Amino acid sequence: MQNNKRFILASRPEGMPDETHLHLEEVPVQEPGEGEIALKTLYLSLDPYMRGRMNAGASYAKSLEIGDVMTGEAVSEVTSSNVAGFAKGDLVIGRTGWQTHSVATPDLLYKIDPALAPASAWLGVIGMPGFTAYVGLREFGKPKAGETVVVSAASGAVGQVVGQIAKMHGCRVVGVAGADDKCEYVVKNYGFDICVNYKDDDFEDKLKAACPKGIDVYFENVGGKVFEGVMKLINDFARVPVCGRIAHYNQTKLPEGPDRLIPFMGQILIKRLMFRGFIQSDHLELLPDFRRDMSQWLKEGKVKYQEDVVEGFDNALTAFQGLLQGRNRGKLVIKVA
Ligand code: NAP
Repeated sequence: MQNNKRFILASRPEGMPDETHLHLEEVPVQEPGEGEIALKTLYLSLDPYMRGRMNAGASYAKSLEIGDVMTGEAVSEVTSSNVAGFAKGDLVIGRTGWQTHSVATPDLLYKIDPALAPASAWLGVIGMPGFTAYVGLREFGKPKAGETVVVSAASGAVGQVVGQIAKMHGCRVVGVAGADDKCEYVVKNYGFDICVNYKDDDFEDKLKAACPKGIDVYFENVGGKVFEGVMKLINDFARVPVCGRIAHYNQTKLPEGPDRLIPFMGQILIKRLMFRGFIQSDHLELLPDFRRDMSQWLKEGKVKYQEDVVEGFDNALTAFQGLLQGRNRGKLVIKVA
């Protein structure tokens, strides 16, 4: 009998998660009951939000409980089905978690069309991260031709799409990333105008030179020193879609230093800034538009994408640690089967 390998939340991390927090175990593969579908995972998506689910406490989504299978979206193949409309061999996407096999009800699954994009891309450019870029930039960044758009984590799953959509709007696009090769990649392959490495000692000077007319839209993915550098260049009436703050996900306490809240609030007022936190899943009414536009852009070659495909389910934890340290190159997925 085949076993299901799965990662279980064994304890809550403080800082970087490791083997003491996520246990790899094997259990027998579950048979599907009435109204259920049995699945074999092909690709597992690894995403920064997963780190937040490991914490206790209030957030926009429920935390994992100790003993739960680690949360995550995957593309799977139907291996057997007790549901009309789902047949053996169909490819589906769903929140089936970090495991090699699962059983799900049809309401939690979406049948993908591999003719539109390869299976793994449904976890990236035409999946949740691509949708995040589409919603955040268009609805809340509201870019206009000639404006300067800065995006952090520029080479990642969300950032690479933000930059390319901003180019379609006729903007000057400035990426910020944590490695020179990432910067070179987004300029060469996605048409970013320029990209600055935030790890350089003279990062703020380089960002200033890259944004001679200041910054009109800042697509915030990271927080930390990138945010501080951007705020020094922000223009009147700028828009800041707040998508993520990955620089802080493993932080255990607030950084030392003066409280910057009062000057920050002053800047929001004086410059009439618009900060807008958003979660992509609040905007699912835009999903059909996104899938229509993105499949067209992919077909026309207007949007390109990079995936970092790690082979082997057992490597998921190490790859996830890498994501939280910037080791991935593009959208990180695990090839499970
Ligand atoms: P990603 O960019 O593919 O991977 C994460 C990247 O974050 C790393 O490669 C690294 O790139 C950067 N990073 C890691 N630690 C950092 C640090 N301490 N300081 C600065 N950068 C750091 O991930 P993604 O899926 O596209 O996600 C990007 C952001 O969007 C995350 O904050 C995520 O939580 C957020 N997000 C939000 C939503 C939503 O609905 N609001 C949905 C999806 C994703 P560098 O080498 O460039 O540092």
